[in-house]
Amino acid sequence: MRATQLFFPTLREIPSEAEMINHKLLLRAGYIRKVAAGIYDYLPLGYKLIRKIETIVRKEMEDAGAQEILMPTMVPAELYKETGRWDLDVLFKFKDRGYRDYAIGFTHEEIVTDLVRRNVRSYKELPMNLYQIQGKGRDEARPRGGVVRGREFIMLDAYSFDRDWDSLDSSYAKMYRAFSRTFALCGLEPLAVEADSGAIGGKTNQEYMVITPAGEDDILVCDTCGYSANSEKCAIGETKIKMSEEKFNALTEVETPDTRTVEQVANFLKVSPKRIIKTLIYKADNKFVAALVRGDRELNEPKLAAAAGVKKVEMVEPETALEVIGAEIGSIGPVGLKKEIKIIADREIAGMANAVVGANKTGYHLMNVNIDRDFSPTIYADIRVAVKGDRCPKCTGKLKVEKGMEVGHIFKLGTVYSDAMNAKFLDDDGKEKVYVMGCYGMGISRMLAAIPEVNNDKDGMILPITVAPFEVTIMLLNPEIDDQCVAATRVYEELTDKGVDVLLDDRDERPGVKFKDNDLMGTPIQVVAGRGCAEGKVEIRVRGTEKKEEVALDDATEYVMKLRDEMFAALRDKANKF
Ligand SMILES: [Zn+2]
Repeated sequence: MRATQLFFPTLREIPSEAEMINHKLLLRAGYIRKVAAGIYDYLPLGYKLIRKIETIVRKEMEDAGAQEILMPTMVPAELYKETGRWDLDVLFKFKDRGYRDYAIGFTHEEIVTDLVRRNVRSYKELPMNLYQIQGKGRDEARPRGGVVRGREFIMLDAYSFDRDWDSLDSSYAKMYRAFSRTFALCGLEPLAVEADSGAIGGKTNQEYMVITPAGEDDILVCDTCGYSANSEKCAIGETKIKMSEEKFNALTEVETPDTRTVEQVANFLKVSPKRIIKTLIYKADNKFVAALVRGDRELNEPKLAAAAGVKKVEMVEPETALEVIGAEIGSIGPVGLKKEIKIIADREIAGMANAVVGANKTGYHLMNVNIDRDFSPTIYADIRVAVKGDRCPKCTGKLKVEKGMEVGHIFKLGTVYSDAMNAKFLDDDGKEKVYVMGCYGMGISRMLAAIPEVNNDKDGMILPITVAPFEVTIMLLNPEIDDQCVAATRVYEELTDKGVDVLLDDRDERPGVKFKDNDLMGTPIQVVAGRGCAEGKVEIRVRGTEKKEEVALDDATEYVMKLRDEMFAALRDKANKF
């Protein structure tokens, strides 16, 4: 391809709307343009990068035994209603002329399950794994970071159907490998972290997280054993609770007007938040529970739900709290609660003495509250969010916190969807059974963001050769000088004949502009046809390194081919570790 024929509107100024590095670079290099919040055009360079990711994905999916299909973007409401997901607020909904309801597909479990339940009858056809690469829509409340969290995005979604759990384990393992290989081939090395199941449901699941300061998720990682989990999931290893040695003081009620938060109470009473017990009232099924965590800690809702023995807990509205407890939120505490309200205390609470809690009377707190003298928790459990320095749940190491950008998520769904949708097959014992399912999602347009986010320098992107829109750029510095034209065209044609994806920068621009633009767009190998051409030489550069080599024109193609092969081989080696 010739640059004179390529649409890549570069920008000299950094667009003010962009905060993340990848967003700035993708806009500046003319990869993407914004249409509306969370909705983007992919320009030739951006879309070429996406298509290269898709090519890698298709190869790895086929190798893992998955088959490509394409399901509709428009999904009839009835399918999402079968599993209750029609009510999710991320759905873009619309009606047809007959006032029938539809949504833009945001993930296709229901549609694929419907396809399989209508067309697959026997265990002999299993396992089956179907995948698609498709544009999807999610009405995100806060679209951010360009294509990182778009409202329209391109995703790979695969769905496996198995006879039983053992077979699912094997399907899941194949997809784990295919995903890990795909990311490695694209120059990403995400951590596969344990995650909470969230809205999709199911059992085991792992998120692929690219570690970057720009990530929006907290990942806890153990330096000793390598365990990693997101903060919603991460358990805290049990350690011996350090008991306070203070002697118990007399319980005192104090007036604390206009204090609602832990910080306000701490400031007003001049105590550390560590001395405060935060009491949060939740609804667990149809019962109320009081969850206690230390004032400087954050409650983890999935952990609380597990401790309460329910699927999901919901924090009560202020009116409900007032009605049930008789005090406003901010003045609630564990002392004197009604017996039917179970008190679930974080393990750390056990070590506290002379604590501050809400008095269950609006505008008042109790000081010098002591466990077993003034109240007794029903149970102790791990219900807080893990933080840096906490004990690893798998070994005696300590956890550290990293920021992660999610690029993939794989789930053992089990029978959540097949039960809800009554999707059955006939097993070899003659009995009808529900499918045991897995689902596997990869954010392809988000990878367009993640790849430059972790591969860049002050001059622009440094793209892995496997996904760079062009593998090689040939910079014809002065198109009016014959020997430069001849040299550039010769290398261009030789490389193109060998199947290399080459850009010939033949624009009528100053050399400085060409160097800047090509560094910005991140092409890994650059061939400079400049003054050296008069002596039969070109310069070969490797983006992101200091490497510059003067090479005889006759040897240039061979030299580039060798560099290119080494770059591909290095990425393949990383993928082959899986
Ligand atoms: Zn560990």
